Amino acid sequence: MNLSLSTRIIIAVTLFFFAALGTITYFNYTSMQNFAKESEREKSEQLLNSIEPVVSINMFLGMDDPMRDYLTKITQTTPMILKLTVKDSGGRIHFSYTSERYGAQNITPILLKHTIQDKILSKPAGEIEMVYSNAKYSEIVEQYKHFSFQLLLAAFALVLLLVILLKKALTPLKELAYELKSYDPVKSNFSKTRMEGEGEICIIQNAVVDMVEKIRDYTSELSKLNLELETKVKERTRTIENTNEQLRKEIEERIRAEEALKYANKMLEKLSTLDSLTGLYNRRIFEQNFKKLWKTALRERQPISMILCDIDHFKKINDTYGHQAGDRCLKEFADILQKCISRPMDMVARYGGEEFIFLLPDTPLLGAVTIANEIQLQLSRRNENPETEIKMTTSIGVSCVIPRDKKESAALLQEADRALYQAKRKGRNRIIVHPL
Ligand code: GH3
Ligand code: MG
Ligand code: MG
Repeated sequence: MNLSLSTRIIIAVTLFFFAALGTITYFNYTSMQNFAKESEREKSEQLLNSIEPVVSINMFLGMDDPMRDYLTKITQTTPMILKLTVKDSGGRIHFSYTSERYGAQNITPILLKHTIQDKILSKPAGEIEMVYSNAKYSEIVEQYKHFSFQLLLAAFALVLLLVILLKKALTPLKELAYELKSYDPVKSNFSKTRMEGEGEICIIQNAVVDMVEKIRDYTSELSKLNLELETKVKERTRTIENTNEQLRKEIEERIRAEEALKYANKMLEKLSTLDSLTGLYNRRIFEQNFKKLWKTALRERQPISMILCDIDHFKKINDTYGHQAGDRCLKEFADILQKCISRPMDMVARYGGEEFIFLLPDTPLLGAVTIANEIQLQLSRRNENPETEIKMTTSIGVSCVIPRDKKESAALLQEADRALYQAKRKGRNRIIVHPL
């Protein structure tokens, strides 16, 4: 059960109050009852004790009439006596009185019997029987009941008052609790202020108000710091973006510069005479030389020979051992080719990727074939070397002509190429000769 603090306090106080009151009332009531009972009995006993000597003397003297007068007077002056009977030892009734109220009461009356002693003969002379009313006692009890009821009513009123006062006293605490429950530091929706006084509720409320003020201060400090942080982050982001933009521009410029450099290098390579990988003459120089030497050969009617070499299945070498190993093979191959010529006018150039061309002025077909054979020989020696990991073979096309007119230069190249093509077709690693 979820009871509020004030309800719990009220229930506890009420229970305690009624338990205490009930206990006190019960004990009071019982002792009062006993007391009333006892006092009534005592009273009746005393009365009987005072009657008894008078009756005893009168009976002894046989003076029934004065005894009757005496007893009648007693019964008249004491309305509490409901019945009074005097008998002698023989059972003869000497006086008998019964009140009108006898039997009309619902409370059991007190019944007393006294033996009349013959003082001279020292033996029982008769008996007095008295029925004494308990009305007084019941009246007292009734009065007490009435009093208890009134006390209870007063107590109830008191408790009611207490509840009202308690509720009133706890109301600020309850309001404070509700205020705290809905309190949100961001909305700053706390409306309670400091209270004057020394009571516990005052102390609690003042402590809560102080605490809320501290939270308010911290919250505003925190939001200020957050704002500063946000501004700093924005500034930093802007700086980073600017730097990034600058970097991007620089990279773009660098790329453009690199591309320009590459282009310039390419142009330079084209303009230069040597092939950068093999160190042989490049194709541009070959073509320039070819024109010059062709003219000389035409003029002097000298034979001119051409050899075209192409490494066999070079793609496979690249695929198997990698491009760098391929490059090393090309360089090795070029060195072998270079060693196969010795005349100052002879030249060998890199014609294409793995294709090389020899221009041999003043050389007849036989001479060119000799050089072609030398190439094959050197290459096979290289392959036979146990340290050689990558084996290479080459196909060679040879052509030769004694120039007769200008146009034949293209035919010389064409024949060498055809011879090379045939060498490939016939199974590679061979020399095919196509003289013009
Ligand atoms: P074939 O016997 O018919 O001549 O076969 P191949 O594989 O030698 O001929 P293909 O024309 O199919 O391939 C030539 C290969 O040479 C392809 C190319 O990658 C390679 N190559 C061309 N130039 C270079 C270079 O400078 N370095 C390297 N490592 N490889 C090159
Ligand atoms: Mg090849
Ligand atoms: Mg080729």
